[in-house]
Amino acid sequence: MKCWKCKKDTKVIALKFYRDLKSNKKYSNPHVQRYIETLPLDIVSIIQTKYPFYKSTLSRTTKEKYFANNCSHCTALQGDYNLYEEINSPFLNGSQMPCKHYILLSKNKNVILQK
Ligand SMILES: [Zn+2]
Repeated sequence: MKCWKCKKDTKVIALKFYRDLKSNKKYSNPHVQRYIETLPLDIVSIIQTKYPFYKSTLSRTTKEKYFANNCSHCTALQGDYNLYEEINSPFLNGSQMPCKHYILLSKNKNVILQK
């Protein structure tokens, strides 16, 4: 999306949570999660190796910290409202968008990023 502050194009991501891979088909449209306040550290670490701009950020609007996209050029918060709620938001129909990557939790708590 175009950064509201520096007007340059910056990558943004959204997260969906599945119970298991089969549920991807069974429940075809899990909702994209917004204003995520906490995530397990191992999952955050995996996300940030690929998307370092996704991090816990204090929002001046909500006065709360949540996991958010930050502009890769000027580090400005790309707030969840702009990502999901407006008519031209990139994730307005996020629940219908296919996932680009999956993070799998294995039984021994190891986490694997799978394309
Ligand atoms: Zn920017």
